[in-house]
Amino acid sequence: MAFKIWLSPPHIGTDEVSYIEMALKANHLAYFGENTIEFNSSLRAYSQTKYAVLTNSGTSAIHLALKVLGVESGDHVICQSNSFVASANPILYLNAIPVFIDSEKDTWNMSPDLLDEALNTLKKKGIKPKAIISVDLYGMPCEYDGIRKIANNHEVPILEDSAEALGSSYKGIPCGNLGSIGVYSFNANKIITTSGGGALVTNSKDYCVRADYLANQAKADKAYLWHEELGYNYKFSNVLAGIGVAQLNRLDEYTRRRRHIFNVYQKKLCDLNPEVSFQKESSDSYSNRWLSCFTFTSFEQKESVKQALLNANIECRSLWFPLHKQPVFRQALSFNNGVSEDLFEKGLCLPSGSNLQANQLEEIISVISEQIK
Ligand SMILES: *Cc1c(COP(=O)(O)O)cnc(C)c1O
Repeated sequence: MAFKIWLSPPHIGTDEVSYIEMALKANHLAYFGENTIEFNSSLRAYSQTKYAVLTNSGTSAIHLALKVLGVESGDHVICQSNSFVASANPILYLNAIPVFIDSEKDTWNMSPDLLDEALNTLKKKGIKPKAIISVDLYGMPCEYDGIRKIANNHEVPILEDSAEALGSSYKGIPCGNLGSIGVYSFNANKIITTSGGGALVTNSKDYCVRADYLANQAKADKAYLWHEELGYNYKFSNVLAGIGVAQLNRLDEYTRRRRHIFNVYQKKLCDLNPEVSFQKESSDSYSNRWLSCFTFTSFEQKESVKQALLNANIECRSLWFPLHKQPVFRQALSFNNGVSEDLFEKGLCLPSGSNLQANQLEEIISVISEQIK
């Protein structure tokens, strides 16, 4: 189905073509080239991290990050339940055991209290998880002061799934740089895109070297190709990196635009119905507001808003269905407080693209108004 207004479409400018052209003219179509070098270095500058590895998707970057953190078959990995399935799938790729943590009400992200409870419960059973996957959902940073303190106490590293949060920050530190390893995605619906792609960022040279090695088929530096362990083909393309270079130059502009869209929705919808709610941005946090998400008064009201938008040919989507309720993870242990289930019941993601026009935004709000006033 083609929508008149999309949830989060790509926003391509004029420079992308020239970077792609440069790669084609130089005949540099593989991993290594001017664009991958420049994209890698601008990404490090942006995230204020020392090292970056470009990958063919955000999911493969998460997979590599778990490998680098030493996750093996039978290990436990803690993961935020309120997220897209890609946050947790790599745990199963490694035959590791996911443990899901529900969210807190304000940020909709991992609850520090439940994280603490989970780590203490596992500790009593003699289990020390290998990693904690936090997710900056819809661009909103987690409550990292709380989460990092608990993670440090238990000496478990944080893998920050910042796939949705490039452009966001917490206490002035860019999202992606708040744990031991951070991950971005450049999928077509993200705030910037390369059509597909991802990156792993870190301040650890060892992690970077190891991730790079595993992403390149675990090729050892010898006179011939020598493989001591299982590797992957997760390399990125110098052609697509050209799109990324041009997109990253406009990230701040896109972030401001998405924040503006969120503010317009918030003002109009909450004025109409004060029970409409949203992710709270604390004074420590700056969200890129990748998606403008709102919860309505009931499941029925949410469904009526969703149907009205779809009837008007406007794309919208329920909030993520909690991972601990997904059939693929049905056996997983989880620590719940009902928050992510409640969000799923009542919440919708609204069109949030940085190229959304003012008159389109007005149209969306008027369709929703009919259902909630
Ligand atoms: C998009 C996304 C991913 C995966 O990124 P891909 O590049 O699509 O593989 C991972 N986690 C979250 C939270 C995402 O939104």
